[in-house]
Amino acid sequence: MAAAIVPDVSARERAVPAAADGRVELVGLTRAEIAAALLAAGVVPGGAPEKAAKMRANQLWHWIYYRGARDFAAMTTLSKEMREALAERFAVGRPAAARDLQSSDGTRKWLLKFADGEEAECVHIPEEDRGALCVSSQVGCTLTCRFCHTGTMKLVRNLSAGEIVGQVMLARDHLNEWPSPPEGRMLSNIVMMGMGEPLYNFDNVAKALKIVMDNEGIAISRRRITLSTAGVVPMIGRCGAELGVNLAISLHAVRDDIRDQIVPLNRKYPIKDLLAACAAYPGLSNARRITFEYVMLKGVNDSPADAKELVRLLKGIPAKVNLIPFNPWPGAPYECSSDEAIRKFSDIVFNAGYSSPVRTPRGRDIMAACGQLKSASVKRSKADILREQAAKDAAAAAAAV
Ligand code: SAH
Repeated sequence: MAAAIVPDVSARERAVPAAADGRVELVGLTRAEIAAALLAAGVVPGGAPEKAAKMRANQLWHWIYYRGARDFAAMTTLSKEMREALAERFAVGRPAAARDLQSSDGTRKWLLKFADGEEAECVHIPEEDRGALCVSSQVGCTLTCRFCHTGTMKLVRNLSAGEIVGQVMLARDHLNEWPSPPEGRMLSNIVMMGMGEPLYNFDNVAKALKIVMDNEGIAISRRRITLSTAGVVPMIGRCGAELGVNLAISLHAVRDDIRDQIVPLNRKYPIKDLLAACAAYPGLSNARRITFEYVMLKGVNDSPADAKELVRLLKGIPAKVNLIPFNPWPGAPYECSSDEAIRKFSDIVFNAGYSSPVRTPRGRDIMAACGQLKSASVKRSKADILREQAAKDAAAAAAAV
């Protein structure tokens, strides 16, 4: 088994929930965790502290996730003393937007910098009267898919639940969508299709999505959320049962020998097992189909025979197919299929009864399209981290002289 497809446990343990200044970050905590944190901090005096903590947690939830408040001073349903006590011990943060790029087609990409300095990207794709946010789940990725730019990075670490929800909150800040508008939001949909493999960081992704779906806060329904996976078969059932979100599968090939090459995770979970897990996905119906993503790579997976085999494989699964023209990146070893090949492929799938739109690439000019995301974060060894710390200490000591 290739080492690259085993999730990196040490990286998972390094997910950081605390604000940089040592205050406890509230974004990413469940209501019960907020209440427990309030109790532990001793900021809810009174005869029945547990009840009071629960009530205060509900009030905080409203300010944080419905109104988008970042400053305790603005939380005017709380007493002034309590607001001050909260501000000393807690933070309501966002990842910093280290860069904010806008494409000529309106797509917007933020380079996010987290409290520990690691970076990931997040993309907003506007349509006329709605829009999707493409959210990252990890800094880097373990999967090394050969056509994907993120795949050339190593996994640096998993994102915490707060860092995942934080992407949605930051986008809302920029789109000016607090408090939650009921209709006509430009951030109406979420796709877990940014950097990383969401099913290799399932606990944090699930916690974050439950916060995002909560009706008294951001309130984006599970029907407007799509989680995309390269095929972590053992986690697919849990994803459906616990979250009930739409599922997208990065299929990209119809034969194991080809998929083994371009999506190395296939060596662990081959096509047959993947499709069996899809067929068993809870809640599937004709109105709720699985999306199969298929990147069109010239001469690799784009023949009419491939299209026919795809139709055969999907038999019995409520499915739709998204054909994604390959988006290039510097040094990529592939080319996009010709328009003609893509059209023929699409026709075969469509004539067999599946919707098979060819996705229009969005944000290519700012490297924000599918598979183009990459950040400068690098996985550092313990020795590197110690060396950097020693250099910092030495610089601080020199400055103090
Ligand atoms: N790891 C998850 C989430 C990433 S989603 C997954 O694999 O599904 C990103 C989507 O963009 C995936 O479908 C991926 O296969 C696709 N993609 C990656 N590189 C691409 C490229 N260069 N051009 C077009 N699509 C690409």
